[in-house]
Amino acid sequence: MRINVHAGHNPAGKVACGAVGLINESTENRRVKEEVISQLRELGHTVYDCTCDNGTGQTDVLQKIVAKCNAHEVDLDVSIHFNSGAGDPSGNDRTTGVEAYVYSASSAAKSYAEKICQAAADLGFRNRGVEYSATLYVLKHTKAPAVLVECCFVDDKDDVELYDCQKMAAAIVYGITGQRVQEPEETSPADPGEETPVGSSKELYRVQVGAYGVKGNADAMKERLRAAGFDAIVVKA
Ligand SMILES: [Zn+2]
Repeated sequence: MRINVHAGHNPAGKVACGAVGLINESTENRRVKEEVISQLRELGHTVYDCTCDNGTGQTDVLQKIVAKCNAHEVDLDVSIHFNSGAGDPSGNDRTTGVEAYVYSASSAAKSYAEKICQAAADLGFRNRGVEYSATLYVLKHTKAPAVLVECCFVDDKDDVELYDCQKMAAAIVYGITGQRVQEPEETSPADPGEETPVGSSKELYRVQVGAYGVKGNADAMKERLRAAGFDAIVVKA
């Protein structure tokens, strides 16, 4: 497939950035966007990144995104957002969940939206389902069928604890393509030859580079280390 992908809003801290809660929409939607693009490319699809990082205001951000989208002939436009308004900062053991917008019930993107929501629901997020909006700028002005994904809520502790950038991206990719990339091996030690045999009294020294309360942040550091050539794993302690 040929697919446009963009993260909504300007970058964090700039004018017209996204929602801020326990996590930051503009930061997380860019991380999910990067991961969606790399997974789609790994699966052999042609992907264009239509994110705008230098808008002068909300309208300018949206116009620049749509201009980038419409510069390519694609099968689908994908807009990645995070929702807010749950108002559950301390957690109530229920996620507020995932939803996806398409222009209308007859949009060719509707079936993708349904599958994306279902794949995210399979991760444990409440499925808020597909919504229609004839006013959302990106849905209204893009030439190709378009879906706007609200991955989960930035201000719901249950959503934030369940959220994992890589898994969310994999759900979106699966919803679009029905395909998954091979999951990275996380159980083997970085260098098996160095591991102490069970029962041995020999001491083992691990190198730690960070400890995070949010798993997505640990995964992000792992990706940075892997990109730098280190075979990193995430361990729950
Ligand atoms: Zn948004």
